[in-house]
Amino acid sequence: MKKQFAIIGLGRFGVSVSTELFQLGHEVLAVDINPSKVKEITNFSTHSAVADGTDEKALRKLGIANFDHVIVAIGDNIQASILCTLLLKEIGIKSVWAKAQNYYHHKVLDKIGADKIIHPEHDMGQRIAQHLVSDKVIDYIELSADYSIVEITAPKSMHNKTLFDLDIRAKFGVTILGIKRKKQINISPLAEDRVLVGDILIVIGQKNDLKRFEDTN
Ligand code: ADP
Repeated sequence: MKKQFAIIGLGRFGVSVSTELFQLGHEVLAVDINPSKVKEITNFSTHSAVADGTDEKALRKLGIANFDHVIVAIGDNIQASILCTLLLKEIGIKSVWAKAQNYYHHKVLDKIGADKIIHPEHDMGQRIAQHLVSDKVIDYIELSADYSIVEITAPKSMHNKTLFDLDIRAKFGVTILGIKRKKQINISPLAEDRVLVGDILIVIGQKNDLKRFEDTN
């Protein structure tokens, strides 16, 4: 289903989010205070506008109140990011996601009601570190301080065995969410499904349990 998004701040992060949403077929309003940034995004957004995200009148004029999802991607100017987020929540936007530069910025965004706070550099750094330390980990998403999801190449000892045989939840305390095989993905696999050479397992669990699972050969 087509959704409507507004992105305020077109630095590297804002441009990447806008372009991806637009290419996925969603309606994207891209906004920046800097006209040259807005010019660059014109072909990769549904609408684009030069406006100050801290100016309530300008935001209302853009029809921001009609958007369910707004992403505040103003980075270095922390004051502008906070004021913009506050205005959007006051205007009544249901879902406001904001990019935080540091811990204090995060705390303030949380207090003023940001619905999700993103730390792209931190999150990406973590994912890359996971790739670096394990040649089996394909991707990594942190869900909380304790839980993560990892994509991992199926260890040799699991090849040609069914999930029933492997009894992974009992042995490792983790759950297989899916099995990727070439371009196919089997979501919620059944006990009789077999793990084959080259399969990628999508696994959810506590970090310690996932580590034990990753260390299996
Ligand atoms: P990144 O690290 O993602 O590249 P930047 O901090 O470099 O982020 O970019 C943030 C963008 O936000 C810049 O293009 C800047 O012009 C824009 N910006 C800064 N203040 C405002 C504001 N008050 N209203 C709208 N856009 C703003």
